Amino acid sequence: MIPVRLLGDPTIGIDRANEHIPPNHCTWAKNLLEQAINGFEADIKGVITTHGCDCTNREFDIWLECVDLEFFYFLNAPLKRNEVALKFFIDDIKELINQLEEKFNVNITSAKISKAIKKMNQIRNQLRQISEYRSNMILKGSDFHSLVKKIQQMDKNKALKMIESTLQDLKTHKLQSDKKLKKILLMGSVIDDTEFIRFLESLGFHIIIDDLCIGTKYFWENVDETEEPIKALAKYHLNKPIYSTKFPSYKRFEIVKDLAKQFNVNGVINIAQKFCEPILYDHPYFSKKFKELGIPYIFVEMEYNRESYKQLTTRFEAFKEII
Ligand code: SF4
Repeated sequence: MIPVRLLGDPTIGIDRANEHIPPNHCTWAKNLLEQAINGFEADIKGVITTHGCDCTNREFDIWLECVDLEFFYFLNAPLKRNEVALKFFIDDIKELINQLEEKFNVNITSAKISKAIKKMNQIRNQLRQISEYRSNMILKGSDFHSLVKKIQQMDKNKALKMIESTLQDLKTHKLQSDKKLKKILLMGSVIDDTEFIRFLESLGFHIIIDDLCIGTKYFWENVDETEEPIKALAKYHLNKPIYSTKFPSYKRFEIVKDLAKQFNVNGVINIAQKFCEPILYDHPYFSKKFKELGIPYIFVEMEYNRESYKQLTTRFEAFKEII
């Protein structure tokens, strides 16, 4: 089995998902449902959803009713990060393993999980190295984003080979010459359309660092290889830097503030997909705190389609002028 991360497709309409979901529901999550109802192109046998925001949590119930797949599982990632939460999470991962074994007639042993953890840690190590090329303005943010996205959807043996050759290739690259590019920390909702990053680049921004799930959240830390593997996986997910879907906001702010300072960014761009409540909730606090620190910050709520990017040109250009 190959785990494939589901990604949106900003070029399609969402007519069938709209039959099931009210208009004020996250447009990105609705886009996934539309694809699922129409049938995925890839040979996807099942879906595992984790406890994230209310949109994806409740949308899972609709998937159960409307989507034709062989396997469904809701992995209940806890909000709390204490010992009780850890035990709860470990038990739920074990239940997921049991159900996968039963459904697909496979044997998911500790040894196999340990091997997968090692492989993913290798991928994370190399992605951190590649990320440095982007921070040193050698690799474009859009190229880095596209690479991380591909890795999230492909066989990890092939991914390792691809990353190794990318690293070799990067060693021969030179610094981007345009010194006028503004160095940006990009954060917010899931941003899976690389065209959006290219759009920001066309306006004179360089994404030097990010706080995205298709980005640093995927590789910033490693899973402990010395711990019992299921416990190590549970600990990794409970201890990694928090998303806006988890509280409190001030803990998340500490993470993005440290990134902004460490990478000496010219500004912060915070993007909310339309109706993304967790990001909308964080924004007033983040806006106030970045203002106090004197770090330029812009918040933009956008539709999940490419036409909407052009409408944002004036706002981003104005932001570029002030930084
Ligand atoms: S973009 Fe926001 S609302 Fe949509 S699924 Fe992600 S966290 Fe939830």
